[in-house]
Amino acid sequence: MNNTEQHSAFIALLGSPNAGKSTLLNQLIGGKVAIVSPKVQTTRTTMNGICIEGNAQLVFIDTPGIFIPSKPLERAIVRAAWEGFKAADQIAVIVDSKRGICKNTRQIIESLQQKNARAILVLNKIDLIKPHTLLALAQELNGFGIFDETFMISALKGDGVPDLRKYFAKNAPVSPWHYDDDMMTDAPLRFLAAEITREQLFLRLNEELPYSLSVQVEKWEEKDNGSVAIHQMIYVMKETQKMIIVGKGGNMIKLIGEKARKEIEKMLGQKVHLYLFVKVQENWTEERFLGNIG
Ligand code: GDP
Ligand code: MG
Repeated sequence: MNNTEQHSAFIALLGSPNAGKSTLLNQLIGGKVAIVSPKVQTTRTTMNGICIEGNAQLVFIDTPGIFIPSKPLERAIVRAAWEGFKAADQIAVIVDSKRGICKNTRQIIESLQQKNARAILVLNKIDLIKPHTLLALAQELNGFGIFDETFMISALKGDGVPDLRKYFAKNAPVSPWHYDDDMMTDAPLRFLAAEITREQLFLRLNEELPYSLSVQVEKWEEKDNGSVAIHQMIYVMKETQKMIIVGKGGNMIKLIGEKARKEIEKMLGQKVHLYLFVKVQENWTEERFLGNIG
């Protein structure tokens, strides 16, 4: 990596629920932005976090746990997780080494095999197990033939995380940064606030709808009284989708706004005034959305 070139990578964190993806993301970006919880499936939507390592800007996609779906909603969640993975330059599979190779982990590995994808293996929670058990697990997982590299870390304590970050940076392709320098500080919180609203849309509406929409922060105003006013724009592709989101007499968007506001308040620890707007934007594509963030 030379001093003038910019490098950039989208990195997908895949793994069974509770493997430690959100904890790892927080360590990687050095700020607490993803929702960490001992309960499974808290992270239903794709989370983005950004960090700079040397000349590389690393954008992490914390996928919701890829688990074996049975209900339609679960199938939609799994689909969303794999969408996140498709946009990635690098894939990291996070395994809870205390738990070993569970059904979900096996399924993730098999899916990657089918897609001829290469990945790196991140054995997490090494603070909980003995070295010889860890080595045996590493060997077994490497037997699947999809991993280029193995890292052993404790996302909770941070052990091994700097090396992992350096590895991602070293392998990041030459590419201009996708996000402005000055967006870095509170950008993750803004993304997350938008993700929370997206999650509420996702939970409350027809499962097909949320993938054709994006939520963007239009305004973020810290008030003197310690509260924050957040304006979010929900972009949809069709007028009919807009009608569904707004609902009868604005009932649906009110409900979504109320729920999202409470979640955002919990995350920020301050009072929030949330204003939601819906706009029809035709020819919307994922790529355009990525280039438009902020
Ligand atoms: P996710 O579902 O993959 O996003 O997992 P989370 O990041 O929410 O973590 C699930 C649980 O595992 C939480 O209770 C974390 O505190 C815990 N955890 C994550 N990483 C480690 C680790 O390295 N060691 C230990 N002991 N616990 C961890
Ligand atoms: Mg999570």
